[in-house]
Amino acid sequence: MDTALVRSIMDISPQRASAPRVLVVEDEPDIAALIAYQLTREGFRVETASTGDQALMAVGREIPDLVVLDRMLPGLSGDEVLRSLRQEAATQSLPVLVLTAKREQEDRIQGLELGADDYLTKPFSPRELVLRVQSILRRSEQGASEAGGRLLRAGPVVLDVSAHEATMDGEELSLTPTEFRLLQALMERRGRTQSRRQLLERAWDVESEVADRIQTRTVDMHIRRLRTKLGHVGDWVETVRGFGYRLKVPEGAE
Ligand code: CA
Repeated sequence: MDTALVRSIMDISPQRASAPRVLVVEDEPDIAALIAYQLTREGFRVETASTGDQALMAVGREIPDLVVLDRMLPGLSGDEVLRSLRQEAATQSLPVLVLTAKREQEDRIQGLELGADDYLTKPFSPRELVLRVQSILRRSEQGASEAGGRLLRAGPVVLDVSAHEATMDGEELSLTPTEFRLLQALMERRGRTQSRRQLLERAWDVESEVADRIQTRTVDMHIRRLRTKLGHVGDWVETVRGFGYRLKVPEGAE
């Protein structure tokens, strides 16, 4: 083989191998191509799927770092794909950014309950999509790398912040990156009430002006799902009416 070619492959490979992989699931070819173009330009490796079934097959071959998922797909819908991903242990925490053409609040809430990490309503700017993707991945990486070796405990729940692992009674809890950061925020300030805006800024890693654009209902939805996953410990996440939430560990439950 031509040595110059070998050298050029070696120059390129390490960077390509470490670039985050994004699976784009979108049946409209123009939109899929536009998203793929923007993400590739920003250094992501992109694979596309045009149906829900194709998406699940692609994930089955290799789990990507993030999925951009259109809700309205022929055959298996985006919601069904998301539900299916959340049911499998291997993809329960896979970050998913949902694209929706629907503007209705109820649809938005339903999608969040299914476990989307973030939402974009069509039409969106490709730049906005790239920023959202980067933000979700940053959150998930921060959870994995910050505060080396730090363990947070609340009763039977242990968060290994550096390993990005959550366990309850020694059993692994499958949390999405957003749920993990939310639980981390609650555990770091246990006993203290935090407003929805504070939780948005901490768990979603956004600035105040961005927090204003994200529905505070988003926090409520994620809290609800977190409580469900935490079982009886979920009752310790208290709603402070008209303000926010706090984690209150009962006496003797240490
Ligand atoms: Ca569509």
